Amino acid sequence: MRLKTKLTLGIGFLFLVIVVFGVFGIISIHRLKGDADRVLKNNYETLVYNNNMLKAMEHLRSDSLALRLFENNLLLQEKNITEPGEKDGTILVRQYFEQLRINRNDSVAQAGIRQSIQLINDLNQEAILHKNQSARDSAESAATWMTIIFTILALIAFTLVLNFPGVISNPIRQLSAGISAIANKNYSRRIHLSQKDEFGDLANAFNIMAEKLDEYEHSNLARIKFEKSRIEAVINNMRDAIIGFDEKRQVLFLNSVAESLIGLREKDVIGKYAPDLALRNDLMRTLLQDEPRAELEIFADGKKSYFVNERIEVRNEEERIGDVIVLRNITPFHELDEAKTNFIATVSHELKTPISSIKMSARLLDDARVGNMNKEQQELLHSIKDDADRLLKITSELLNMSQVETGNIQLKIQAAAAEDIIQHAVQAVQFQAQQKQMIIKTDIAPALPGLMADMEKTSWVLINFLTNAIRYAPEASVIEVTASRKNEKVSIAVRDHGIGIDEKYLTRIFDRYYKVPGNYEKSGTGLGLAISREFIEAQGGNIWVESRIGEGSRFGFDFPAIA
Ligand code: ADP
Repeated sequence: MRLKTKLTLGIGFLFLVIVVFGVFGIISIHRLKGDADRVLKNNYETLVYNNNMLKAMEHLRSDSLALRLFENNLLLQEKNITEPGEKDGTILVRQYFEQLRINRNDSVAQAGIRQSIQLINDLNQEAILHKNQSARDSAESAATWMTIIFTILALIAFTLVLNFPGVISNPIRQLSAGISAIANKNYSRRIHLSQKDEFGDLANAFNIMAEKLDEYEHSNLARIKFEKSRIEAVINNMRDAIIGFDEKRQVLFLNSVAESLIGLREKDVIGKYAPDLALRNDLMRTLLQDEPRAELEIFADGKKSYFVNERIEVRNEEERIGDVIVLRNITPFHELDEAKTNFIATVSHELKTPISSIKMSARLLDDARVGNMNKEQQELLHSIKDDADRLLKITSELLNMSQVETGNIQLKIQAAAAEDIIQHAVQAVQFQAQQKQMIIKTDIAPALPGLMADMEKTSWVLINFLTNAIRYAPEASVIEVTASRKNEKVSIAVRDHGIGIDEKYLTRIFDRYYKVPGNYEKSGTGLGLAISREFIEAQGGNIWVESRIGEGSRFGFDFPAIA
């Protein structure tokens, strides 16, 4: 039943109760009033008329008006005959009255009148008693009926009072509980109402909504699961090793490459505290180090691979929610690099012989015994010599570099004096310096201890410093070569007053093939300083630079002093 119908019925019932009670009460009161009126009119008035007639009869002899008064009351009585037998009595009164009219002293007529009036009075008094009883009966029956009706209606109303609020409040309670459940994302919640009213419709609509939300939630979940597996597939198919950690450094995921590299199975690491794993796994320990290593050489699956370790901090808005370590596989680049180094080594080695013979031929041509040359020919020969020298320098640098790259540096470490190294180097560049009218000053600290070094390689480095100084300093400037003691070390340095190097490039000039941008000498290879570093570091030394743009540079290296 619809709620509207229920409310209409409930209120309608109350209206009916009021109408029934009202109508019944009014009818009962009217009936009682009718009874009272009838008693008054039918019987009481008769008693009054009869009384008046008796009084008038007392005064018939002395009062002439009494006769008329008697007759008036008799006329009224004649019109108010209501009880059975009353008519006969009244006719008798009329007959006796007619006799009295003729003879006022007729005692027989007077006695007859009294007797008849008495008879009428008795009849009416009896009727009054009877009607009083019947009025009382009707009042009692009305009271009984009203009590019955009241009891029935009260019972119905009581039942309504007990049940009707529940009809409205119960579904509302269920609905609000359902809405709270939905608000708490419990989309499986349903409302079961058996009633077929507006609340039933509301519950149905609610259930449909919950179902849709449930479907949406599940389809979202399915989509998220699909996306997750797709990302997992992407991560797993990568050639780089990837390991993810949460903000508490617990392992969240790792791909198969990472699995085989660190030698641990996924199920043994997921959810584990990474520093705990690092205790028994070297690679993990290396990866967790704060300073990522430039390059990692890893033996896995029976072959050597190269990786660079990159740590990415994962942030959500401002909050750090974890880290991802990517071990980028650079083995193919390594292989290419090796091929390149081998190629350079081969080419530069092969070039050395023809260049040397070009130099030799040029020197022979320069000999007057071979023949005289004019000035133009001499200039051409000069430039052939210069270019051959430069070519030889480049090829020897390339060869050195390829030796460095393949780890083939052959060192002949022996005790040496700084002074010897300096003299050898200065001598080698003296000619070049003179061509630019430059002066090379040497300053060797007294009682300098010796050092353990490969003479040839160390001199090569110093020559490279000096060649650069000559190249990047103006003509007729001074180059200072110093050898000094720095704590337990012997330090050899070359200072020039040339163009200097911008501070931002200082960290890079020792990198292979690096040339300061916009720098003026195009002919260099960018390899000299890189080879120098390798040579010095291979001997356990330390290479350094100090430079200020426009003021000049100071390149040097330190070796442990012989105790
Ligand atoms: P290159 O053969 O090009 O000189 P190097 O490795 O010897 O290669 O030097 C690397 C770069 O460092 C040079 O290209 C040059 O720009 C810069 N450089 C080296 N020495 C000096 C110096 N004394 N003064 C200024 N710049 C220098």
